Amino acid sequence: MPTWLVTGGAGFIGANFVLDAIARGVRVVNLDALTYAGNRASLVSVEGNSAYRFVHGDIGDAALGAQLLSEHRPDAVVNFAAESHVDRSIDGPAAFVRTNVMGTLNLLERCRDHWAGLDEAGREGFRFLHVSTDEVYGSLGAEGRFSEQSNYAPNSPYAASKAASDHLVRAFHHTWGLPVLTTNCSNNYGPLQFPEKLIPLVIARALAGESLPVYGDGRQVRDWLFVADHCAAIRRVLEAGQVGETYNVGGDAERENLAVVTTLCRLLDARRPRADGSAHETLIRFVADRPGHDRRYAIDAGKLRRELDWVPAVGFEQGVASTVDWYLDNQAWVRGVLETGQHTRRIGTGA
Ligand code: NAD
Repeated sequence: MPTWLVTGGAGFIGANFVLDAIARGVRVVNLDALTYAGNRASLVSVEGNSAYRFVHGDIGDAALGAQLLSEHRPDAVVNFAAESHVDRSIDGPAAFVRTNVMGTLNLLERCRDHWAGLDEAGREGFRFLHVSTDEVYGSLGAEGRFSEQSNYAPNSPYAASKAASDHLVRAFHHTWGLPVLTTNCSNNYGPLQFPEKLIPLVIARALAGESLPVYGDGRQVRDWLFVADHCAAIRRVLEAGQVGETYNVGGDAERENLAVVTTLCRLLDARRPRADGSAHETLIRFVADRPGHDRRYAIDAGKLRRELDWVPAVGFEQGVASTVDWYLDNQAWVRGVLETGQHTRRIGTGA
């Protein structure tokens, strides 16, 4: 039974990943600081499972990191822990540097020291997988897609902090030989996403009859990937990825933000018609654009497809409909995560 130390496993993608890993017979130690974005309620189905241990702590805590590595001797460390919301990084970049840069650096140092002390077979089998974003590549015009060769050009403090962490991961491989892997993925959506990101935010506000503020002209383009497909890609890279390599992960599903919002409105019209019979789209309001808002991201995931035979299984229309259904069926989860008291309602819906 392999053991994975997962960081940030109480967040959106991390929780989906942890639930899936345990279902596949992996032992998981989940290290999470439980910021506003971390919710143990997402993992209630595995609490008490002997294959699962939750550790409340910070990836920047050196002693804790060293202790968990020596106690559990994981086969892999999968680093999801991060401050992840672009708008919050504009309000307060320091927390992003603290967790995404300094926290990742601490984790790398602890892993390097632990890995160096393993026997040859242990060193051979160990992996450090860093989960990152396509936002490190900056913004695209109407043409082209990001490949693993694209230059880094981060535009938001969030993207800059993730870019810095990606460079540190690379440097730990080149300098000390740590067996690292990096994945850079496009926008995820699906169950268990905190309702500050575009899709769950629109669903929550529409159900509450609140306005749906759309940044700028709403024509910003993002590539969308269903979270289970992202988790499958990470598992595949862990299993067969070339040490030291980077893999782009994307859904081949470019959509303008406004089109995503209107799709959600139509799905809600069919499932939860408004009391006055008006369409949910009438709630859309255009608001001042986010400063430095990237216009278009698009990912070329050809390397992952060619080398590791990964393709997304869930198309956007299917995934988004099942996501709307999940939120409608799990309103108690939504209320629970919003009641943490640390949630500040974002006004804009940008992805
Ligand atoms: P999230 O904000 O939902 O979850 C982040 C988790 O990290 C939370 O559980 C939080 O409590 C935890 N955390 C924060 N700071 C911590 C610290 N110092 N120590 C330990 N735990 C800490 O994020 P997400 O959307 O699940 O994203 C996970 C990872 O995937 C991030 O690294 C993000 O950059 C990357 N990513 C996200 C997307 C996306 O669309 N959501 C796309 C590509 C890559």
